Amino acid sequence: GAGVVVIGGGQAGIQAADSLRAAGYEPPVTVIADEDGLPYQRPPLSKDYLGQGPSPEPLPLRAGGFFVDRRIDLRRGVAATAIDRTRRRVALSDGEHLEYDYLILATGASNRVLTCPGAELPGVRGLRTLEDAQALRGELETVGDVVVVGAGFIGLEFAAAARQRGVRVTVLEFGDRPMGRALTPAAGDWFAGAHRRNGVDLRFGEGIGSIAAGDDGRAVAVVSTTGRRYRADLVVVGIGVVPNTGLAADAGLEIDNGIVVDESLATSDPAILAVGDCANFPSARSGSRLRLESVQNATDQGRHASRIILEGTERYDDVPWFWSTQGAIRLQIAGVSAPGDATSVVGDPAAGRFSVICHRDGRLSAVESVNSPADHLAARKLLSSGDGPSLQDVAAPGFSLKAFAR
Ligand code: FAD
Repeated sequence: GAGVVVIGGGQAGIQAADSLRAAGYEPPVTVIADEDGLPYQRPPLSKDYLGQGPSPEPLPLRAGGFFVDRRIDLRRGVAATAIDRTRRRVALSDGEHLEYDYLILATGASNRVLTCPGAELPGVRGLRTLEDAQALRGELETVGDVVVVGAGFIGLEFAAAARQRGVRVTVLEFGDRPMGRALTPAAGDWFAGAHRRNGVDLRFGEGIGSIAAGDDGRAVAVVSTTGRRYRADLVVVGIGVVPNTGLAADAGLEIDNGIVVDESLATSDPAILAVGDCANFPSARSGSRLRLESVQNATDQGRHASRIILEGTERYDDVPWFWSTQGAIRLQIAGVSAPGDATSVVGDPAAGRFSVICHRDGRLSAVESVNSPADHLAARKLLSSGDGPSLQDVAAPGFSLKAFAR
């Protein structure tokens, strides 16, 4: 057969190719990866990678020899430009065409672009790729004041890394809490305090109005939506991502905040699957459609795509989990919370070790753990088995997730 073509050499695409070979799939497996280098892990780029010292090597997703050993044809620096669904062919930017039996879309997401006046000035940057991180590492050598736009995971990870480098940091956030899309108010408010104690000037209810240039044409200041002016030798934009759906949309596939897939990760064309940051999937577990941006989601869906190709329909329903490291704080999330979930705090927030346990309709829905890895592991186990504690269980004195999960 023509085999499998994977579009996208990120966490999801590489996992899909790996899993196909690991399960004994024999026909050709090709990965189209538009970035130049060896596929790499993104999480360190906003964490350790920004530290002091000689420029570190990016962490590869797989060692170089892996692709040769597994007969995975990795096409680097080449983009897929069109999908011909009738002939089951993908057009590449180098003029070649590849036929497929199955196509896996693992195109990821791109940073949402700032649109205010001055957004295009030198000294205004986002953080998604290795190239972005290399540039920011360089900037941190020389800048004194940084304004971060958006108090999401990336913005706050960058803010913590910049504080470790002794840089003055202001974070502007339109909402009233950090990480408001993903985190409960209980955990979010704790993080606001922690970042402020770490010297970050965290401003809520304040967005970016415009960016002013100095004599050299580079950004020097940010004027916020409330009219305040902040010095900024560097502006880091972390206002979220948009899924890369253009290719799928051009091919007539259904799009709605991502490439729409069914419970087995198939798009509206059964020969085409979508996985990772670009995919919008129905989650039986959370009772709604989700598009998640995490390593767990990308790798588990990549693995699942190979099972679908080899074994046929099966429902994707893995427990979502996520981590974020912000300076000395390690946040781990199991499950997905929603506004309105009941929340209970266990542990010791004042000492910086606690978990927020979320219940929806009386059932455990998510657990956010701060510097409490044992709680996180217990939560994943309990969410997976469905035997989570009730609200009453959690309210009992001395309740421990770890003890409950045993
Ligand atoms: P991507 O990693 O975006 O890969 C998609 C690839 O496809 C890209 O290389 C893209 O260029 C390529 N592509 C797109 N279109 C085409 C085309 N037409 N032809 C060829 N190639 C194409 N998650 C966590 O769980 N924990 C963390 O701590 C964490 N930290 C992060 C820190 C940073 C700085 C970033 C950016 C992300 C972080 N994430 C973290 C999120 C996680 O890295 C992503 O969810 C994950 O990488 C998604 O994998 P993916 O394969 O779906 O997409």
